Amino acid sequence: MFQSFLIKYGEIGIKGKNRYLFEDMLVSQINYSLKAIDGEFYVHKQQGRIYVECQGDFDFDETVEALQTVFGIVGICPVVHVPDEGFDALAEEVIAYLKQVHPGENQTFKVNARRARKNYPMTSMELNAALGERILQAIPGIKVDVHNPDILLNVEIREKIYIYSKIIPGPGGMPVGTNGKAMLLLSGGIDSPVAGYMIAKRGVKIDAVYFHAPPYTSERAKQKVVDLARIVSRYTGPIHLHVVNFTDIQLYIYDKCPHEELTIIMRRYMMRIAEHFAKETGCLGLITGESIGQVASQTMQSLAATNEVCTMPVYRPVIGFDKQDIVDISEKIGTYETSILPFEDCCTIFVAKHPVTKPNLNIIRRSEKHLEEKIEELVRTAIETTEVILVE
Ligand code: ATP
Ligand code: MG
Repeated sequence: MFQSFLIKYGEIGIKGKNRYLFEDMLVSQINYSLKAIDGEFYVHKQQGRIYVECQGDFDFDETVEALQTVFGIVGICPVVHVPDEGFDALAEEVIAYLKQVHPGENQTFKVNARRARKNYPMTSMELNAALGERILQAIPGIKVDVHNPDILLNVEIREKIYIYSKIIPGPGGMPVGTNGKAMLLLSGGIDSPVAGYMIAKRGVKIDAVYFHAPPYTSERAKQKVVDLARIVSRYTGPIHLHVVNFTDIQLYIYDKCPHEELTIIMRRYMMRIAEHFAKETGCLGLITGESIGQVASQTMQSLAATNEVCTMPVYRPVIGFDKQDIVDISEKIGTYETSILPFEDCCTIFVAKHPVTKPNLNIIRRSEKHLEEKIEELVRTAIETTEVILVE
């Protein structure tokens, strides 16, 4: 029965030039989200509103689901179009709409008419009163409540007349692309896809880097990360996934450094390499799924040691979250099932039985000195042989 959607977007304080940027990005992200949906859609801005017009047949649920992946959308209102054939015809349509869309009993309502076309023969106030009266006559038990109605019935006079009353919640946030770009360190775990989602929700475009250690980590472990990137890309748009072959660096660290420091030193090299790609691709920060205290490499001391090699801001959106909070989000965004598939993780392959939990920076720096002979060359080779996969 619905022919279009009115898109509600929030974020107070976007004014002037920023407002256009926000709206244009929103339109472009809506188009992206609808690409995979059967049906023809025409997305357009009109008088400070965004409409998705559906041409011909389309799957309502699929379309709503796609729109619910677009950051910046606060609400999705399904709209019924009726031709302008005079007030009586409109009143009939409105009553039929209410009976179908809001079949409950003893509900309260308020009519909110709005003229986008000023040559309509009645004012908005007159329409509110006249339609209200017809509804009261036609639907037994229904009452008016102008302050807190169950049903806010919007009637917009355009070329056609638009009727809507339902608001399906959107994901909120800001359209991807309105806030620069960042590089996500994406592993196969639960936390990093959630971290990428959260930063993208604030309008940040995402690229990603994954450290792969064949043959210690399998092709299937890599495929899992590609799959996770694909799920995240539903929300963020296309992701350039950098797959770094990290094996030789890991083996070299394993060979030269105390094993209990391996994880920290390895993580410092991950950050360095991630930052290289971040700079190369115009990113303004790094993103990780770290959370204080979750594992030995995420104590305050370990985080400080990892952070020390970075010159860019490192965004850690789940830093204060309990595991369960992160799991809840991963379930909501659809990454959980993939994240828990049991493939090896390059961080756990060489892990020491008793990793340092309070690394001392001076000691770590001294251990890294043992790598001087070959590490630069190994890093260069890892960077040069990195495979970039466009995930969308
Ligand atoms: P996750 O669930 O995201 O894997 P985790 O709890 O397993 O996190 P760690 O393995 O200590 O935690 O990793 C911390 C963060 O470092 C990850 O969230 C991710 O951002 C990054 N990271 C870890 N391993 C890799 C990897 N192989 N490739 C890319 N990034 C990684
Ligand atoms: Mg992990």
